[in-house]
Amino acid sequence: MRINVHAGHNPDGKVACGAIGFIRESTENRRVKDAVVSRLRQLGHTVYDCTCNDGVSSSDNLAKIVNACNAHEVDLDVSIHFNAGAKDAVGNGVTTGIEVYTYKSSGIARECAERVCGAVAALGFQNRGAKVNNFYVLRNTKAPAMLIECCFVDDKDDVELYDCQKMADAIVFGITQQKAVTEDNSVNAGAVSPGDETTTGNGEKLYRVQVGAYSIKANADAMLQRLKDVGFDAIIVGS
Ligand SMILES: [Zn+2]
Repeated sequence: MRINVHAGHNPDGKVACGAIGFIRESTENRRVKDAVVSRLRQLGHTVYDCTCNDGVSSSDNLAKIVNACNAHEVDLDVSIHFNAGAKDAVGNGVTTGIEVYTYKSSGIARECAERVCGAVAALGFQNRGAKVNNFYVLRNTKAPAMLIECCFVDDKDDVELYDCQKMADAIVFGITQQKAVTEDNSVNAGAVSPGDETTTGNGEKLYRVQVGAYSIKANADAMLQRLKDVGFDAIIVGS
């Protein structure tokens, strides 16, 4: 697929930033956005990040997002937000949950919206469902669009359950029906020093360091490329 993804609003600390509760929308939606973009690319999709970080007002931020989206021919626009208004500061034991908005009540965006709701609900969030709305980004983007309200920043139960990586996994699965190949997106070239010997070894024993096992070749190719991109000497071994 070809997909536009953006985090809503300006960054925290600027005019027109998002909702603030136990967590901050503009910070968390950018974390989720980054993880979603990375997973989608890993799965072989073409992704454009249309986030706006320099809107001079709320309407300017929205216009810049839409202009960035409409500069690409895509199958889907994805807008990532967090919700507010639950006002559950104590924690009543239930989340307020996930909801996803689309402009139309049918079509690819609506199908993705329903699947994203289901996948996020499977993490334990209440499913508020797919809903129709004429938000600016939904009505002005050329491609079918969905606006995801991941969960509520001002509900203690939502915030305690919320995990950025799991949220991103659920969103990507809802959109693509594919599972991203890593749980925690933690490949990091700075994290290990592989030493002099890598793929060949030199003795009777070989200790192989494995980062994944895939039934779909394209997923293996994507992980191989990702490892090479960050500087690892990696190969694909068939079983
Ligand atoms: Zn928002």
